[in-house]
Formats: sequence, structure tokens, C-alpha cells
Amino acid sequence: MTRCSFDRSRQRIAEASRIIPGGVSSHFRHGVSPTPLVFERAEGACLFDIDGNRLIDYYLALGPMILGHTPADVIAAVQEQAGRGILFGGQSELEFEAARLVCEMVPCAERVRFASSGSEADQLALRLSRAVTGRSKVLKFEGHYHGWMDSVLWSVATPSEQLGPEARPSRFAGSLGQDASAGENVEVLPWNQAELVVERLKRGDVAAVIMEPIMCNSGGILPEPGYLEAVRAACTETGTVLIFDEVVTGFRVGPGGAQGRLGVTPDLATFAKAIANGFSVAAVAGRADLMDRLAGGGILHGGTYNAQAVAMAATVATLRRLGTPGTYEAMEARGRRLMDGIDQALKRAGITATVTGLPQIFHVALGMAEPGRHYRDMLTSDRQAYVRLTTALLERGVRALERGAWFLSTEHDDAIVDQTLAAFEDAVSVLKPA
Ligand code: PLP
Repeated sequence: MTRCSFDRSRQRIAEASRIIPGGVSSHFRHGVSPTPLVFERAEGACLFDIDGNRLIDYYLALGPMILGHTPADVIAAVQEQAGRGILFGGQSELEFEAARLVCEMVPCAERVRFASSGSEADQLALRLSRAVTGRSKVLKFEGHYHGWMDSVLWSVATPSEQLGPEARPSRFAGSLGQDASAGENVEVLPWNQAELVVERLKRGDVAAVIMEPIMCNSGGILPEPGYLEAVRAACTETGTVLIFDEVVTGFRVGPGGAQGRLGVTPDLATFAKAIANGFSVAAVAGRADLMDRLAGGGILHGGTYNAQAVAMAATVATLRRLGTPGTYEAMEARGRRLMDGIDQALKRAGITATVTGLPQIFHVALGMAEPGRHYRDMLTSDRQAYVRLTTALLERGVRALERGAWFLSTEHDDAIVDQTLAAFEDAVSVLKPA
């Protein structure tokens, strides 16, 4: 099997570091093995870098590219709109159509507001929750990511030695420079343990419970049977706003996101990533009585680029395709084959590992014999070995995230899956003892 090398990327990142800190524009692109990559172009399920490598892409830009890199319908819609106007600072029919599609597809969506990033959408959902309940406290879960802002970047990646008691995790800041006072109203619980949420909400002082309804950022973990239902009931009983952060799961695990797939409807949900196949679109959707408070004045939601016309054209084209019958079923079948193939390759090599989650976003963890239930379980996985594996995969033309997640698109067809499994079979050899 020919091996890719990344010398040119390494060199250009070093040169670019003189004008861009680290040579990258997001924390999450920094420090990856063997080097951050520099790309020339992308097509279908593949990326092409400046070293001349063709890489099968399971990053998918951390989720958005659900229709692959060159969807003809999205590109045509975007090109047409670019010639008709980019940003109006006002409304457009495309925005209304995008909103209609979101409301048609997503169970909780009686109303929707657009924003430009998932981080912003989560801020709006939390602000709205505080305004409608008149309460300040927010409950979040260990290992769940809701953007990089000061008010939510707590206990996302707590190191083992800082965890605190399991039932009362410490509130661990995710960044130097983070405003400590922004976390004063944030309480952290372990996920997938309903009784702890039920007990905490009884005090009646929590504005919102926010969670990834399928834990994607720190491991592909599904909620335990009855968990979401119990949290839903406790929120209803105590007048607490239940927010599902569907920035990853939205329009990815099904047309109705995790809530559509799992059958539990939150009060508010946030979306981004797959909603517009690579354009900067996010959304907050939810109950009309809550969302309409945004129309009454008093609760401020701004954003120069919100519902930008070209991005709205991409949203409409993306959602129309995702709403086409059969789209998710085809992705699901190929993703399942990929998951099973990876699982079998690891077993054949005698490597202890779990392959968990859903075919459109799954997670591979080395060194774990049983699927994790929450964040702390995932800390037992062998991350160093996994980085060795993703580095070996990259050398064999497959780009997968170092943190274990694999994103799938409609363009990962059977041939791409076969090529991936062949590369995987070869790459696992780096994990075997010499
Ligand atoms: N929420 C979740 C679950 C995410 O995974 C992310 C980003 O990865 C965000 C929010 C923040 O979204 P953005 O990066 O668009 O600000």
C-alpha cells in the first residue's frame, strides 16, 4: 500500500505560523498528528492536499459536509444566489423557505431563528431560557460541548485528576483566560443518570438543562433507555427549559435529528453543521410560546450575518435533499457496513476496542471492552494508541479524527467504504506489539 507523506503541509504550516498563530484558525485544527494539513481542493468523499495526496475524509469539516464536498444541487443554488445578492441586512424568501423546511422536519420546531455558528445558537437558547423562566442556573453534563464561549466551556474535557466526585463533578474551565464568573450559574452533572437530574431540578431554580442528546463529542454514546424521557418529564414538572444541542446530531442522524430518531421532544434545540453543508448557518428552533418571546423586544438576539442569502440558498438545497426519501437509509446501510468492518478488523487483530454510536456519526475507542455510559468511562480508552492508528490511516489515505469520531456523508459509497476498510486492515498493524 502506497504511503502518503505530508512534508509540504508541514512546511507551509511552519511558514504560515509567522502570520497566523500556529498556522491555523481554530484550536481544534492545532496539534494534530503528523501535522495540520493544507488542502487544495475537495470532491465527493475526498480531500486533496498540497502534497498531492487523495484522502478519504471522515472529518467532514467536523460534521457539516453531509452531502460530501461537491454536491451539485447546493453548489448551483449558491452560485445562483451569489449573482442575485449576498447579504441584504433584511429578510428573503430563501430564509422563509429554509425556516419552513426546518419546521417541517424537526419535531420541536414550531418556530426557528437563524444564527451563524453553533456556539451562538447555544448562547441564544440559554439566554431565552433565562428570560422566560426568570431563573439563572443552567445544568450541563460532563464531556458535553456547547461551543467555546465562557458560559458553557465547562467540564468538556476535564482531566482525570480534576474530576471530583462522580455525582457532583467539578466545574473545570476549558480555557485559560475564561471568565470564572461566567461559570457561577453553571452546574455540571454526569450524563445518563436520570435520578441526579430529577433530584436537582426539584429545587425549581434551574432555567435550562442543556445536553447533546447523543453524546458525540466525547464518545458515541446513546442515551440509556428511559433517560431522555425521565429528564423530559422532570423539566416539564419543574418548568425548566429542556435544550437539545443538536449541532452535531441535527440533520445528521435523521431528518428530525436525535429528537426525531429517539422520540423525545425538547423545548428548544440548536442546529448548525449539517443544516447547510458547509455554509455558516446555525439555528435555534422550539416551542412557539418560548420562541415568540424573541419578537416581543427585551430579549436581544443579533448577528450581522444571520440568514445571509447565499447561506440560506445552501440551507434550502441541503434540507431539500436531506428530506428526499431514502437519503438516510442509504447512508445508514453503508455506515453500518463500515462500523462492522472496523469492528471485525480490530477483533481479527486481537485489539480490544468498541465501535459505538450511529452509522452517520460513530466512535471508535481502543482499550475499552464495554461501550461507555458517560464521559468518565471514555477516559479509560487508550488515546495515544488511537492517535497512532489515525496517523497510520492518514498515511494510507484515510483521514479520521484523533478523538475517535467518524462522520459519514452520502458520498461515502461502497467503493469508498471498501477502500477505507482495506486501509484500516493495514493500519491496525501499528497497534500490534512488535
Ligand atoms: N455544540 C456542539 C454539540 C458542537 O459539537 C459544536 C461544535 O463542534 C458546537 C456546539 C459549536 O458549534 P460552532 O463550532 O459552529 O460554533
